Formats: sequence, C-alpha cells, structure tokens
Amino acid sequence: YIIFDHISKNYGSNQVLKGIDLKIERGDFVTLLGPSGCGKSTLLRCLSGLEAVTEGRFYLDGADITEMEPKDRNVGMIFQQYSLFPNMNVFQNISFGLKLKKLPKQHIEMKVRRAIEMVELNGKEDHYPSQLSGGQQQRVALARSIAAEPKVLLLDEPLSAIDAKLRRSLQSRIREIHDELGITSIFVTHDQDEAMILSDVIHLFNQGTIEQSDRPVDLYTSPKSAYAAGFIGQYN
Ligand code: ATP
Ligand code: MG
Repeated sequence: YIIFDHISKNYGSNQVLKGIDLKIERGDFVTLLGPSGCGKSTLLRCLSGLEAVTEGRFYLDGADITEMEPKDRNVGMIFQQYSLFPNMNVFQNISFGLKLKKLPKQHIEMKVRRAIEMVELNGKEDHYPSQLSGGQQQRVALARSIAAEPKVLLLDEPLSAIDAKLRRSLQSRIREIHDELGITSIFVTHDQDEAMILSDVIHLFNQGTIEQSDRPVDLYTSPKSAYAAGFIGQYN
C-alpha cells in the first residue's frame, strides 16, 4: 500500500498540491482524474522523486520513501510526452535502466524479451523510435517501465497522443499487464471515459485537493458535490 500523508507542493506562491491525504491499496489500479492544471502530473512527479514535496510524507509498504533517490523507490513512471532515447533502438531503450543496475547480461536479455512480449512488440527490437508509430513508442515506454519490475507503476496520460481506436486496445492491454504483474498502478487522465473503464478506484481532483474517492460506479451514481456532479455529468 501507499500512503500520501498531507502532501503539499508550492511553486513560488502557487500552491499546486494542498495537503493531500490518500491511501492506495496494494494491487489496485487507481486513477487520478481531473481537469488540466489541477496538479495530477505534479503529484506523480513528487511520488516518483523527480520533484521534492514542500510538505508531507510518502510511505510505500510502511517505509518512508520521501527522501529516497528516484531509482531506489521501486516506483516506475511513464510520462505524458514520449521519453524514449531517440539514438537507441527498442532493445537498448528497454535495457538501459537494467544496465545501470549492473545486472548480468542474460538476466537483462530475459527481462527485456518478457517485457517486449507483454506489450506485443516482437520483431521491433532493432527499430529506432523514429521508425515507430506513436502507439508503438508508448508501448516501448511501457515495456521499459515493466522490465524494471517496479512495485508501483505511475502512468501519466500515456495514451493522450494516440488515436481513438488504438487507444482502446492499449487501455485494455495496460490493465491486463497490471493484473498479470500484480503491481499497484496509478493512472492519470482527464478522460472520464478512460477512468471509468480502467479503474478500481477513482480519485477526483479539484485544484490540488481530492474532491471524492470512490469506485467508478459510485462516483457516477452518487457524486458527493456539485463539482463531482458537474465533472461526471459531462460523461455520456
Ligand atoms: P494536465 O492535465 O494539463 O497535464 P496537470 O493536472 O497534470 O494538468 P500539473 O502539470 O501538475 O497539472 O500542473 C499543476 C500546476 O502547477 C499548473 O498551474 C502549472 O502551471 C504548475 N506547475 C507545474 N510544474 C511547474 C513548474 N516546474 N514550475 C512552476 N509551476 C509549475
Ligand atoms: Mg499533467
């Protein structure tokens, strides 16, 4: 499980995260849903250690990870924009982090093969990012994250640049991989359709606070505020 203990983040005088308290159960697929600029990416960057919090603590399975280096947190992240190395092929992109960990060559190959199979990119090992479609590039990013076998996978709108049809099939693939690996996933989107389909729990964001946390069906049938009703009301 992950605990967010009163997480705040300020950029100058702009308070982007306003004391967020949250508990995420191990193995859950949860979604942070909210409009543009409400702080979703900031919260993920803080949890992954790319950004320091102003106040508050993060706990992962009981351990305080707030001050840990990103690489030691067991938290993998896939970004809103593509984050592949353009000068490396698919295999090299996926194996990069494992090489940094100085794993034996055979282990690296095995983990990379498995990750490539999971995202269904067999045969593309030698391709460079520029030779792949947007959806394929995002699948490489997904493979790179799962090859590192994180306890927690953070997905920051990984499908935003992908057309509607492919988006649907990647949505279900992401959920299948989550279930196969038995990890905890935090998915960020402003697309309520996507949130409804994928999530065990949705945390609805409003300007740096959590407005409501519920199962999709409960959020849909019993919004507890005008804000939640308004946001979900756009869902048709
Ligand atoms: P979107 O759905 O558009 O991706 P978001 O919910 O992910 O939005 P964030 O990227 O977390 O939003 O940004 C929240 C707020 O923090 C915005 O007002 C943004 O301008 C501000 N912000 C984000 N990063 C920085 C930064 N590095 N420096 C200053 N302000 C920042
Ligand atoms: Mg964002």
